[in-house]
Amino acid sequence: MSGAVRWLVAGAGFTGAVVAERIARTLDQRVLIVDRRDHLGGNAYDFSDADGNVIHKYGPHIFHTGSDRIWEYLSQFTDWRPYVHRTMVAIGDRLVTLPFNLDSLQQVFPGPAADRISAALVADHGFGTRVTIGKLLDSPNPAIAEFARFLHENVYLNYVRKQWDLKPEELSPSVLARLPVSISHDDRYFQSRHQAMPAGGYAALFERMLAHPRIEIALNTEFADARARHPSAKVVYTGPIDAYFDHRHGELPYRSVRFDLSFAAGEKSQPVGTISYPGADGYTRVTDLSHITGQTSRSVLVKEFPEAYARGRNEPFYPVPTPQSAEMLRPYVEAAGKLRGKVWFAGRLGDYAYYNMDQACGRAMALVDKELAGAA
Ligand SMILES: Cc1cc2nc3c(=O)[nH]c(=O)nc-3n(C[C@H](O)[C@H](O)[C@H](O)COP(=O)(O)OP(=O)(O)OC[C@H]3O[C@@H](n4cnc5c(N)ncnc54)[C@H](O)[C@@H]3O)c2cc1C
Repeated sequence: MSGAVRWLVAGAGFTGAVVAERIARTLDQRVLIVDRRDHLGGNAYDFSDADGNVIHKYGPHIFHTGSDRIWEYLSQFTDWRPYVHRTMVAIGDRLVTLPFNLDSLQQVFPGPAADRISAALVADHGFGTRVTIGKLLDSPNPAIAEFARFLHENVYLNYVRKQWDLKPEELSPSVLARLPVSISHDDRYFQSRHQAMPAGGYAALFERMLAHPRIEIALNTEFADARARHPSAKVVYTGPIDAYFDHRHGELPYRSVRFDLSFAAGEKSQPVGTISYPGADGYTRVTDLSHITGQTSRSVLVKEFPEAYARGRNEPFYPVPTPQSAEMLRPYVEAAGKLRGKVWFAGRLGDYAYYNMDQACGRAMALVDKELAGAA
């Protein structure tokens, strides 16, 4: 692209790609999108290996959204393969439906006990509702509170310990709030209206999204180098916010994950997409990607080992949801605010917020509509 680049977008994940596409298409302006990796798609990137196995490089990514707007927007760039994610949890030597629902109760407790707890849950909360484990732990009904303690100890406690290397009480209450019990027979992991996988994969979706004459893509490119070449461009930065400011207020904590891949003959070598193993040594869950991608030749099994994040050694996957990290973020948000009009921060790393893919898209769309359009 010759001449001045008007917009420079750092990061080609969902946030950066949607921002670039919207700038090109709705603002009709030229945009350079860069990523230090050698591919588009950020953490959603997928590829086929030499044997034709479809692999999600940065862990299993399942698309779901309740937003018609986001669904319709992304549908411009992909067809969809219907997929509803179902998961189980290993409790002792049993596999039990997760999210925990009325059927899980029958799988774990003897009939009369399961019936008693089910009746209490339905009476107190209503059939068809979803209640967080945190709320159930506080229940005045002894049958419910005892059941909640069982779940907490056998399902969530070890999982949370391994996932975050923290005690549950050190995490923000929002984490427990994300662990619902479903007072119904609904065994879907997500309740979103739209659940599906991009038929040609995520990488193809990104290629199509960014195939616009106003968009230039530079892979294997550091933001700082692109910035030096385009000093007057307005910037949307979706990398880690603390890195932008050279960690001057300290390094924000992240959690990383190591993914161990293995293969098995035939598709669907486990009964559901993902099985959680709270009691296992080191790993949290195993996903069989063949459920998710529709690959029929083989099962592609991904075992997740959460690990400490160290800059330069592994990937900063999860912002750590503690009150301390929220406090550390504050001076960065203030510094970012002072740059508004020239530089905007967004995305999982730029906002230091755990977003699902649809939330990253929604954040990017709102940023262009509400802020960038006025600054163009
Ligand atoms: C293990 C795991 C599983 C997940 N599963 C799901 C799921 O099932 N469903 C779901 O909806 N969401 C899932 N997510 C969340 C999903 O990955 C995010 O919503 C999405 O990646 C956010 O997109 P983003 O563009 O904000 O960030 P990212 O995808 O992280 O993209 C940021 C990009 O910026 C680049 N970058 C950073 N710094 C620089 C720099 N200085 N110069 C150049 N480039 C830079 C990075 O290389 C990266 O490509 C999962 C996340 C993880 C970690």
